[in-house]
Amino acid sequence: MTVMDYEIVIGLEVHCQLLTKTKIFCGCSTDFGNPPNQNTCPVCTGMPGALPVLNRKVVDFAIRAGLATNCSITSSNIFARKNYFYPDLPKGYQISQFELPICLGGYLDIEVEDETKRIGITRIHMEEDAGKLVHPEYEHGVSFVDYNRACVPLIEIVSEPDMRSSAEAVAYLKALRDIMVYLEVCDGNMEEGSFRCDANISLRHWGAPEFGIRAELKNMNSFRNVQRAIDYEVERQQDILDGGGTVVQETRLWNVERGISMSMRGKEEAHDYRYFPDPDLLPVVIDDSWVDEVRQSLPELPAAKRRRFVSDYGIPEADTEVLTADRDLADYFEAAVEIFPQPKAIANWIMAELLKFLNEDRIGVANCPVTPRGLAELLMLIDDGTISGKIGKQVFSQMFSAGDNDPKQIVADKGLAQMSDAGELVAMIDEILAANADKVKEYQAGKTKMFGFFVGQVMKKSKGQANPQMVNELIKERIG
Ligand SMILES: [Zn+2]
Repeated sequence: MTVMDYEIVIGLEVHCQLLTKTKIFCGCSTDFGNPPNQNTCPVCTGMPGALPVLNRKVVDFAIRAGLATNCSITSSNIFARKNYFYPDLPKGYQISQFELPICLGGYLDIEVEDETKRIGITRIHMEEDAGKLVHPEYEHGVSFVDYNRACVPLIEIVSEPDMRSSAEAVAYLKALRDIMVYLEVCDGNMEEGSFRCDANISLRHWGAPEFGIRAELKNMNSFRNVQRAIDYEVERQQDILDGGGTVVQETRLWNVERGISMSMRGKEEAHDYRYFPDPDLLPVVIDDSWVDEVRQSLPELPAAKRRRFVSDYGIPEADTEVLTADRDLADYFEAAVEIFPQPKAIANWIMAELLKFLNEDRIGVANCPVTPRGLAELLMLIDDGTISGKIGKQVFSQMFSAGDNDPKQIVADKGLAQMSDAGELVAMIDEILAANADKVKEYQAGKTKMFGFFVGQVMKKSKGQANPQMVNELIKERIG
């Protein structure tokens, strides 16, 4: 393979649907999945004379997002009309921000192949979403429009063209999504479109002073599709440039099924939209005390939490990735460690057992039937030798399916406590050794691997309840 002649330049525009209860400029609900046009009123359907009123929560959320991505907050904010025609946009314009967006000049540090890279964030602005066109298959030639989503609040996060590969783009997107979910600003659901990304991609010869002509990619509803679509686009542009052609500035739609992108429309420039300040909305003045108030309420962010988990609990970085992927899971872990201060043991159980059960039943940590205290008490029983790790898994399964958080009681009721009575164990061991006299001879003749067989037999006979350490010692005493 030849070394690529071009440098890849990628910038991302991410739209996050905000988790407010009501829309950005009216009191309609933002609930998802209601019958078409149920969440509407004269404001969000663009009736003449209806006036928008800004939802304060949207500003709070945008400030949160900005502070968490190291942006400065603009003190005087202007809403602007972005004019274009589309059937799902009844006013004929979208209320957005243009010259004075709420956040400017931030950054995010990402990790790619063990290296940290800083990706600039140009701006974050607030805007309203459009409605949705529905093209039912059963009614050929007819389309419907659903305005439930019209006026639902969004923030658009625009990066600098700082990414140089699809892997960097995906790392940036993942980091950004983790932050927005931690902030409880957005649910981060890419399939449902509440976290969506457009990518601007261009190529240039190494060392060229100017960026190449870019194409914008839309409709990538998973991290995997972002990666695939960018890789495809890079190859497409490379072929054009290698053949002496010119890349056309346009918007292209990613086709998931076919794994290709197709031209959708020529890319508009900002001046095509005839932006102007919305005369129906006053400038939003954000003073320092408002910003400080939001700053006080920021949670610990994923990267900081990962660092703290490594330094405070001494658990490996790979584990912290899993434990902090979800804020509820991180809280669960810490609650359990507080009761039973053995972080690595708890981390292992969460990753190997708890997550497996949660995934199988498709439930979130917040609804986990086993409480942090329940898990901690179970691990204490293993730690003090009352039960073995293997029996522990059985007890955990029982706790999970019955929502029973008293492992001690389960162990007592089911008689699962470990056999630590030497007399009882000796009798069992002698019986097994006698029945396997030939194997004992082999062992004594130097076939040391046989030892594991004897231990296995005892464990089997005791239904896993024999104390493995005692079994080891007792067998050793007997056969040397
Ligand atoms: Zn409304």
